[in-house]
Amino acid sequence: MKPLSLYVHIPFCIQKCDYCDFLSFPADDGAHAAYFAALENELSAHSLAFGKDKGDYEVVSIFFGGGTPSAVNETYIERILTLVRTHYALSNDAECSIEVNPGTVSEEKLRVYHHAGINRISIGCQSMQEEELQTLGRIHTKEDVIATFKAARAAGFQNINIDLMSALPDQTFDSYMDSVTQVVALAPEHISAYSLILEEGTPFYEEYSEEVRDEDLSLEMYQETTRYLKEHGYEHYEISNYCLDGYRCRHNVVYWTRGEYLGTGLGAASLICETRFRNTEDFDAYIAANGDPKTIREDVEELDYHARMEEYMFLGLRMIEGIRASDFEKTFGHPIRRIYAKAIDELTKDGLLAVNGDQICLTPTGVNVSNYALARFLFDE
Ligand code: SF4
Repeated sequence: MKPLSLYVHIPFCIQKCDYCDFLSFPADDGAHAAYFAALENELSAHSLAFGKDKGDYEVVSIFFGGGTPSAVNETYIERILTLVRTHYALSNDAECSIEVNPGTVSEEKLRVYHHAGINRISIGCQSMQEEELQTLGRIHTKEDVIATFKAARAAGFQNINIDLMSALPDQTFDSYMDSVTQVVALAPEHISAYSLILEEGTPFYEEYSEEVRDEDLSLEMYQETTRYLKEHGYEHYEISNYCLDGYRCRHNVVYWTRGEYLGTGLGAASLICETRFRNTEDFDAYIAANGDPKTIREDVEELDYHARMEEYMFLGLRMIEGIRASDFEKTFGHPIRRIYAKAIDELTKDGLLAVNGDQICLTPTGVNVSNYALARFLFDE
């Protein structure tokens, strides 16, 4: 059977954060109920193609993302997991993650998740500075983050991620590193540290897009985060992700290595048999279709040979270990240099890419300017 990763999108949040352009919004209990009825229907319908009766796929990871999955009643999550177990071949050691936000979970809720089979918790912390949390429009305090972490440990979770953000308005090097230090003191197994991106249409964009971002400061924060986390035993395994030994996020690694994944729920994206598609982002349309996969499917794109190569490089080089030339040749039937000699040579000369025998990866300098470096592998650049 082929491995399949399952993403389940829960678009609900308590309130909208000022920087957020994710597909998420506050909604009432009635909307939650209608949504989960449609979502269950979608998962049942997909099982005809991907389920255990068909026998082609084994689900190796499940990721409840959002939005704030912990903003809905935990019985909805339990029911989805029961449905997946009933209709899909779920691997015994499947990684099963849920994103939670401090202020929306109790120890009891976390116990229900654990009992239902969730084995990885991802906590949306973003900062351990009260002023920064307020600026972001988050509903929680630093104390809520600590309480959520402790509650997750008490509920039995041995695999916890904490999300942090840099490049926030008025954030200083010291305030950021203080957040990193406080998070490390909790000893989570995984830390994601992303840089804030100002997205058009958000209150943050209106307020801060005219401000010139201090690239030197961002670079300094990034380098010190990597150094500090390494010193504390965290492997830097992807541009923005760090973990203790054995705790890479298996679900996200599937995205970066172009494994197959099925996205369910509002706006969720999939990659199946070299075809990308996504569900409608229109909530009413999703409910009206009762999650029927054919009705809600949009933006179907069959990836041609070149698009696959671009993705292979663009996503694979996000991993710090990079890619292997021999894997490229096995996948595409051509030596990598026949396709990308110019990009490889120029990036290597500029100190952004390193070629060590079979392995090709970004250098630390290349990681710092990854958007530029990765774009060199696009054919229309
Ligand atoms: S909690 Fe997350 S998904 Fe929800 S509004 Fe805030 S940033 Fe967006």
